[in-house]
Amino acid sequence: MTLSKHIANHVREIPRSGIRDFFEIVQTMADVISLGIGEPDFHTPWRIREAAIYGLERGHTGYTSNLGLPKLRERIAQYVQKHFHVSYDPATEIIVTVGVSEAIDLALRALLNPGDEVLYHEPCYVSYSPSVVLAHGVPVAVPTFAKDNFRMTSEELAKLITPRSKVLMMNFPCNPTGATQTREELEKIAALCVKHDLVVLTDEIYSELTYDGAQHVSIASLPGMRERTVFLHGFSKAFAMTGFRVGYACAPPALTEAMMKVHQYAILCANTMAQDAAIEALESGDGDVAMMRKEYEARRNFIVRSLNDIGLPCFKPLGAFYVFPDIRSTGLTSKEFSLRLLQEKKVACVPGPAFGVSGEGHVRCSYATSMEKIKIAMERMAEFIAEVRK
Ligand code: PLP
Repeated sequence: MTLSKHIANHVREIPRSGIRDFFEIVQTMADVISLGIGEPDFHTPWRIREAAIYGLERGHTGYTSNLGLPKLRERIAQYVQKHFHVSYDPATEIIVTVGVSEAIDLALRALLNPGDEVLYHEPCYVSYSPSVVLAHGVPVAVPTFAKDNFRMTSEELAKLITPRSKVLMMNFPCNPTGATQTREELEKIAALCVKHDLVVLTDEIYSELTYDGAQHVSIASLPGMRERTVFLHGFSKAFAMTGFRVGYACAPPALTEAMMKVHQYAILCANTMAQDAAIEALESGDGDVAMMRKEYEARRNFIVRSLNDIGLPCFKPLGAFYVFPDIRSTGLTSKEFSLRLLQEKKVACVPGPAFGVSGEGHVRCSYATSMEKIKIAMERMAEFIAEVRK
């Protein structure tokens, strides 16, 4: 039996993640310093882990409400109000999900009819385009450029809006570029969304990780936007809780209800012990977040300075834990650069096109790894660049 012909066309057509393939090679090698990791190198703060253990001890081993534990939804409402200045009703406007990953999938499946177009900035998180295809939508990439520090501009967005456009998906601070948006640019983007009746999915998973005192602004908080926005957030990055798999979506009741229908049949509810841990994170985790942010900021300062010193131009991003240096001066493609750097110097970074074609000419380096390792990686990279340029 040839099973491949039974695989759904839209699933067959989506490519495997470029990051996975690359890291399968990394795993076969010893002594590699990886700047390829997209998750915090910190352990989850102990109190948060303990809350999950305590949940287990108390026998919290059953399903929760489909929407998530009421207490967690209340804490989320308070947190979102305090940090993002938007209020949501915990009873009808918040759904707890299995990471932001599930929240993205739910939102797209709840919103899209076959053929609806979804705009998103590129380079972007690897799941965006495939998630749109899996929900039978049409992905439309809005390019962003190094000259704008990879901000999405309303001019580029406007060029790609058509009568089929339904959703704008965005992620600032951005994986893989570290880009953030100014309030002014967000206001122009918001005006376009109102004019063309677009729903906005805003993935703000890195919002706590902003540096140089920069104030994160959520598009959901701008006038007229709450009613057309799905606000997506989670615990993986700021609280170093990737393995807990908890996130959430906040949206007006009609949209939350639609997402809840998909969630209740596909997933039922997020992991119960992880929800206990998430409550603890929101109640007492601010200090841990501040400590990690401070450490990331020091690493960012070092890595940006080092990359520019060795001749790989790199702007100083205000958020997330990635830098996206320009490697074109080496004469190598992003893939050649990453493969040779790995083979010749045992440093792993991700080729830019893994995040969409407009990532060509760049590589993503994550600084979610210790300063000690980053220092060695930069030395090795400097030697590599000197050898390539000989
Ligand atoms: N969104 C962005 C922009 C990410 O970078 C990631 C993970 O790297 C996710 C969503 C997935 O997050 P979660 O662990 O909450 O599913």
